Amino acid sequence: MSQHFSGSLFMVAAPSGAGKSTLVNALLAQEPTIKLSISTTTRPPRPGEEHGREYFFTTAEDFVKRAAAGEFLEWAEVHGNYYGTSRIFVEEQMKAGTDILLEIDWQGARQVKKQFPQAAGIFILPPSIAALEERLHKRGQDEPHVITRRLLAAGGEIAHAPEFEYAIINEEFPVALSELSAIVRSARCRFAQQAARNASLFAQLGIHAEHAE
Ligand code: 5GP
Repeated sequence: MSQHFSGSLFMVAAPSGAGKSTLVNALLAQEPTIKLSISTTTRPPRPGEEHGREYFFTTAEDFVKRAAAGEFLEWAEVHGNYYGTSRIFVEEQMKAGTDILLEIDWQGARQVKKQFPQAAGIFILPPSIAALEERLHKRGQDEPHVITRRLLAAGGEIAHAPEFEYAIINEEFPVALSELSAIVRSARCRFAQQAARNASLFAQLGIHAEHAE
């Protein structure tokens, strides 16, 4: 059924400090038709973060209840907190043909891939471990023990990078951004995507695209 949605689904993962959010925000500024899914989390807000903008912040008790009720398309425990993607948001946007981007970890990406096999998985890599460490410290938004935990977890996240279709090395920001943008554009040209978006043209041309990947 997922093959008939005209929107594309992108999943972007990275270890903390690889510059994922900055890249994703720049992509969204360039491609305003892509909608970012706002996750729900039990992590406390960082300074400057707003409920409903970066995340929907909630308690562990509420999260667990909603997860049990099937509200999340996927959810996972990351760095000691829960994070989940709204099922209804993704399904409604997919039906409307909107491109959606999920910023999720490898555990979530696996769950999404089972339900939407055509979802494009993109992994952002840092140019070196030293750069990763430096970026985490520079951000200065987390407590030192949180930074240590995130650095240790980075190795675990990177170990799952081969499960993603695309890898971007975020060394030169403009290069990484243009690579991300190229992936988005190529996904939009997938046969099934074009056929779903241009159904009447394809019908006129006598193209039967129901088996397109
Ligand atoms: P942060 O706390 O730095 O915002 O995010 C920590 C990690 O949680 C990141 O790797 C991010 O991709 C992941 N994450 C954020 N939202 C979700 C979500 O909805 N589901 C899953 N599985 N991971 C998420």
